[in-house]
Amino acid sequence: MTLPASGSLKSVCVFCGSRSGNDPAFTRAAIELGRTLAERKIRLVFGGGQIGIMGSLADAVLAHHGEVTGVIPEALTAREIVHQNVADMRVVDSMHTRKALMAKLSDGFIALPGGLGTFEELCEVLTWRQLRIHHKPVALLNVNGYYSPLLNMLRTACENGFMGPENLGFLHVTDSIPALLGYLETYGHSEPESDAKVQALT
Ligand code: AMP
Repeated sequence: MTLPASGSLKSVCVFCGSRSGNDPAFTRAAIELGRTLAERKIRLVFGGGQIGIMGSLADAVLAHHGEVTGVIPEALTAREIVHQNVADMRVVDSMHTRKALMAKLSDGFIALPGGLGTFEELCEVLTWRQLRIHHKPVALLNVNGYYSPLLNMLRTACENGFMGPENLGFLHVTDSIPALLGYLETYGHSEPESDAKVQALT
């Protein structure tokens, strides 16, 4: 079934694990998201790896004839880990350049389950949103409650006065892929983003 093409959401950056985790639901979610992005003609921008749910996600987009851009630092391009089937692979000089380019190429951000790298990427785009460096939507797919402890920590930060409750609102949380994409596709871009500002701070 082909779903209607998205409106303003042409490309989305997905942060996710370079491992697959212990619960098969994580890989299933990555595959389902990849298929849905391809069907909605939304380009995937990702970290360029072939491993973990990152690889499963890209494989699913490609299997359904979707568009994929990988952004990978030179240091991670050893043959066994860079995705061999992604034609548009941007090789950059550092992790910082990678994250800035991924942000620039995308209309919104999604986090799937992952580890430290995924947490760092998610927290960075939320911090940039908080600082108004960009104005793009950020959504979290909370597969089987994986991120509930992190969400509790964010609420604890608010309760203890280290984070404004309004900043909590920058993160949209759902366990449904249609709801997640619906949020990103209908999100209003109130202010123009500043790529120059992103570059200046990275
Ligand atoms: P993690 O959540 O700790 O698995 O980290 C995910 C992030 O680790 C990715 O977005 C990348 O920044 C990085 N990473 C680790 N291994 C690879 C790989 N083989 N290819 C691409 N990126 C990788």
